[in-house]
Amino acid sequence: MSTTTSHTTENAYTVALKQLDRAAQHVEGVDRWAIDRLHYPQRELTVNFPVKMDDGSVEVFTGYRVHHSTLRGPTKGGIRYHPEVDINEVRALAMWMTWKCAIVGIPYGGAKGGVVVDPALLSLRELEHLTRRYATEISILMNPKGDIPAPDVNTNAQIMAWIMDTYSMHQGFTSLAVVTGKPIEMGGSLGRNTATGRGVMFVIRESLRQQGKTIKGLVAAVQGFGNVGSISALSVYQEGARVVAVSDVRGGIYNPQGLDIPKVIEHVEYTGSVVNFPGSQSVTNAELLLLPCDILIPAALGNQLTEDNAKDVKAWMIAEGANGPTTPEADLIFDERGIQVLPDVVANAGGVTVSYFEWVQDLEWFFWSAEEIEKRLETILVNSFNAVKDISIKKHIDMRTAAQVLAVERVAKAQMISGLYP
Ligand code: NAD
Repeated sequence: MSTTTSHTTENAYTVALKQLDRAAQHVEGVDRWAIDRLHYPQRELTVNFPVKMDDGSVEVFTGYRVHHSTLRGPTKGGIRYHPEVDINEVRALAMWMTWKCAIVGIPYGGAKGGVVVDPALLSLRELEHLTRRYATEISILMNPKGDIPAPDVNTNAQIMAWIMDTYSMHQGFTSLAVVTGKPIEMGGSLGRNTATGRGVMFVIRESLRQQGKTIKGLVAAVQGFGNVGSISALSVYQEGARVVAVSDVRGGIYNPQGLDIPKVIEHVEYTGSVVNFPGSQSVTNAELLLLPCDILIPAALGNQLTEDNAKDVKAWMIAEGANGPTTPEADLIFDERGIQVLPDVVANAGGVTVSYFEWVQDLEWFFWSAEEIEKRLETILVNSFNAVKDISIKKHIDMRTAAQVLAVERVAKAQMISGLYP
């Protein structure tokens, strides 16, 4: 099968394939077939399942679970609840998980899952029923030795707890290690909830350190104020950045003097959104991306920085908290303009790294301190960033391509060593 057949429509998977093709040109020491097979997910599951709603009616929902590669270990990747989830998005996110795990050197392959649903329209009871049924439907793939989900957009520790409990009920014993991002009370890890956002800050800090700069005094804008966005904003704020704008699905807030991020977090806890934060002016999500600032952190959905707006971005550093926020066309524009892009597969890899720590702790039934987790996380991310940076300098390529060269080489080498079965 040609490796270009899937490049027909522009979607997240098309973007992931274009990135892979770009990286493949620079990969050394592996046979072409070992790279070609990585263009395809290893296996895909689509599930359609009924859920009884509070009013007694029954609705049928569609969900997915995709395993991109099992070459380096069990598969790992989050579950997304969003009305625009589709199979191509899940395929792309699964492929990016394979790269991410290879870059940070943890023994996992990539997976991703999703359900086509707007969870804001469900009651808590409906959300639990949907989650438990989806968990049951994907349990033919999900297990602590083979495939371990985690939170993503619109899923959280409570949802992971329901997944673990459902799986455990079916097994007849408690299986902590089947899912990560759980509450601490149910085998969750200290530091998991903040890992992705802390990791975004560690990677920014390391990149700046190499340029003789610090975060202190720099101006930042953050799109998305969920798990990744709020903790990234808080982490750079605590390092002394002036965070002038943040946003969520309802809109953005802007204050050129800087926002008090702990107070914004309190406001969101109280009102459910960043909008109407006292002392701020409104901006749209599109305007936020173009505000004058040093560091832009997209931390919401994919496909936000495109050829339409890349030339107007004012930031000189973009740290990708979100997965796939930048299209390949925008990447080229940023490269031409000398804008530094800290790519998603490195910048937001803190989440999967601490998910790995959680899994190890669950398997050992022995838990680590918050300090140990934070220290190990920083070491892994700084080392991974530097490995990518070295390739980028050596091969004269941008950081995203360099990151994917490192990942593809590691995964394709595993393929070459395994050989082909039968
Ligand atoms: P989340 O559900 O906690 O938060 C998502 C945020 O984005 C919310 O503030 C939401 O209001 C906002 N949002 C949703 N739709 C939007 C839109 N159309 N425009 C602007 N804002 C919008 O999700 P999260 O876990 O923080 O994930 C955010 C991004 O980070 C995703 O791309 C996800 O894949 C990626 N990511 C998450 C993790 C993790 O550990 N949670 C790890 C790596 C990458």
